[in-house]
Amino acid sequence: MARHLSARPAWPEGYQSAVALAFDLDGPTGDAMLNKSLKDNMRYFTEGSYGPFRALPRLLDLLKKYQLSATFFIPTWVLEHWPERCERIIEDGHEVAYHGHRHEVFINCNSEQQLEIMEHSKAIFKQRLGVQPVGFRTPSGDWNSDTAKLLFEFGVQYSSSMRGDDRPYFHLNEGKVGLVEIPGRWDIDDYSALALFELPSFPSGGDRISPYQQVASNWCHEFEGYHQQGLCWTTILHPKVSAKPGRLKILDTLFKQIRSHDDVWVSHCSQIAKWWRSNYDN
Ligand SMILES: [Zn+2]
Repeated sequence: MARHLSARPAWPEGYQSAVALAFDLDGPTGDAMLNKSLKDNMRYFTEGSYGPFRALPRLLDLLKKYQLSATFFIPTWVLEHWPERCERIIEDGHEVAYHGHRHEVFINCNSEQQLEIMEHSKAIFKQRLGVQPVGFRTPSGDWNSDTAKLLFEFGVQYSSSMRGDDRPYFHLNEGKVGLVEIPGRWDIDDYSALALFELPSFPSGGDRISPYQQVASNWCHEFEGYHQQGLCWTTILHPKVSAKPGRLKILDTLFKQIRSHDDVWVSHCSQIAKWWRSNYDN
């Protein structure tokens, strides 16, 4: 079925909209860790390790309370260091997907380097969790001109890395449909409302934390907007940022709002991508 540009997507079983809750379990990986030994930056390390070690179990409990299933994008360095924590993600029925090994910035990697990261991650997912992911979210939000093609040829089925729509779409691969994209938004990234940056201050101008009730309200409004228009909403949330004790109420409010509708298809990114590939050709 061709997708008319202004059309509402059709979702399975008459659902009105789709929600792919997604969390990036970055832990201490990221720019500050890429070229350094972990021991060089213990303060940063402990800030990040709070995510898989402490915040993740709390988030999994909350997801269970609302019977919500999510997708976790995991740098495999985190999986290697907190394997038991990550095992519970699988045990609870969630999806895991690629997010680099040490959260490498793919736009700075050539084809060989990108492929090496993917091969390395694939082996670790198989060894530690016995799974082969089919999804990818680019670390740090950008990728190279060859990344979509490289991922598709590697066997990845979907990405949740880009913007540009509020419905899934395809990346073209030599004129044919390639990866399904499930686009997100920076302002539905918890960093934009809840992260404290000191060194460097980002964005320049200083640190800021938004009032929690306002954040909950914003996210609920965004979800409601997508739902009313029959679209596909995904999140870019990080356990180390939004699954802290006082912030859990924000997630609780959001999850309750999603569950207040019985016509929302809450599913893994992989299922939404599969639906899109089976029902659309553009
Ligand atoms: Zn990340």
